[in-house]
Amino acid sequence: MILLDGKKTSAEIKEEIALQVAELVRKDKKKPHLAAVIVGSDGASLTYVNAKVKACERVGFESTLIRLPKETTEEELLNEIEILNVDNDIDGFIVQLPLPDHIDEQKILMAVDPDKDVDGFHPTNVGKMALNLPTFISATPFGILELLERYKIETSGKDVVVIGRSHIVGAPMSILLSQKRTVGNATVTLTHSRTKNLAEVTKKADIIVAAIGIPEFLKADMVKDDVVVIDVGITRIADSSRKNGFRLVGDVAFNEVSEKASYITPVPGGVGPMTIAMLLKNTLLANSRKE
Ligand code: NAD
Repeated sequence: MILLDGKKTSAEIKEEIALQVAELVRKDKKKPHLAAVIVGSDGASLTYVNAKVKACERVGFESTLIRLPKETTEEELLNEIEILNVDNDIDGFIVQLPLPDHIDEQKILMAVDPDKDVDGFHPTNVGKMALNLPTFISATPFGILELLERYKIETSGKDVVVIGRSHIVGAPMSILLSQKRTVGNATVTLTHSRTKNLAEVTKKADIIVAAIGIPEFLKADMVKDDVVVIDVGITRIADSSRKNGFRLVGDVAFNEVSEKASYITPVPGGVGPMTIAMLLKNTLLANSRKE
């Protein structure tokens, strides 16, 4: 079994980005600038958004974190987005999800200028992605493509099973892997909570992408030998032996599945760090598009 090391791979990508930023600075050009908006103070969301800001600093980007109270109204958030849309210094920005219940998430994502939508969530960018046109591919599926490419995992003609049909992971992943592209050309089955006999489907897969949010859902008896497993899930499980009081668990029963797998991502240290690296890559792209 070979570990698909997202931590190491993302560090390599960040080094490559840092070199490109240094080159921009040498040429007296503008550094990429990413802004992130977070509403409320949910622990996991704050951790993710802080990790994104820190990653920006490490590669030499400018970054701006806008923290708004959980009582922020939809209108106030839309105003904040408009300010970012017209701010020439901001190349790209993200609105950290989930948003509080009183805010219509779709309305907010629609308000982001598609040219600054480095999360790739705006319908314009989702549409371009679905048509295989150049655009911002959302960071998690983009990170998975990159991980498969850098580990030279063949996808062409393979049977891929994606578990979970979310707009941010499962659905785009299934589209991308079936497209005619370097990492693609696969025969993809998209499964979800209404899929019957899921284990029968996953047992035939050469590659499985699990994006469900149920800890250790995928067990060894659901996969065939030499399967490639991408575990997107991140669930916080209470653990009093840890300083922070929790541990992160993926959607895959790692210990048993890794005994059958040819390649597998760990949690943490797999897809998570790749997501952040690809957000930086999208911001660099937004910056170079403006040039
Ligand atoms: P989601 O929570 O929006 O949806 C879950 C999906 O799982 C749904 O499509 C549902 O149909 C499917 N599902 C639920 N129960 C099922 C079952 N029994 N059998 C088959 N399918 C079932 O999904 P999401 O936002 O993609 O998140 C999934 C997980 O990935 C979460 O743990 C989340 O924290 C994690 N995540 C990680 C990253 C990262 O960077 N690593 C990014 C995004 C999400």
